[in-house]
Amino acid sequence: MSSYKQTKRTISFIILHCSATRENQHFTVADIKRWHLQRGFVDCGYHLVVEQDGTISAGRPLTSIGAHCRNHNRNSIGICYVGGLDKDGHPADTRNEAQKKSLCELLTQLHQDYPKAIILGHRDLSPDLNGDGKITPNEYIKRCPCFDAMVEYADLQPAGLWEGKPIW
Ligand SMILES: [Zn+2]
Repeated sequence: MSSYKQTKRTISFIILHCSATRENQHFTVADIKRWHLQRGFVDCGYHLVVEQDGTISAGRPLTSIGAHCRNHNRNSIGICYVGGLDKDGHPADTRNEAQKKSLCELLTQLHQDYPKAIILGHRDLSPDLNGDGKITPNEYIKRCPCFDAMVEYADLQPAGLWEGKPIW
């Protein structure tokens, strides 16, 4: 896999998202770009999209600031997998095996390129309402990406992350 290192931005976070579409809907990066242009964005809000067949597609260049997580776009990379809702439209971890494999490969590469970046989910950057240093489910502004990215990718986190309380 080619290197994704092509930005001079300081990358503190690699933020995982879902497209909030049903698991049986096969959308592509072109669809997501079209939705974002309709919302007035200049390009796809995410840097990378993992489609349902596992294809990793470029949304916008890593050199550009994304449009995917309020207050955290400047110093982050946004990755979206297609899915996040079950067939009835309820939030669910709908990643299939191909998507899980691609996410793992992609995050392994990005961890090499940005070893200080914390991998987390969009919901983990919700406001800490009670100030206890933890973002708990009752504080989630969204369920996105519908799984616990910090734990799932614990092996790809910056050295020392779990020794102290992460601050952001
Ligand atoms: Zn999101």
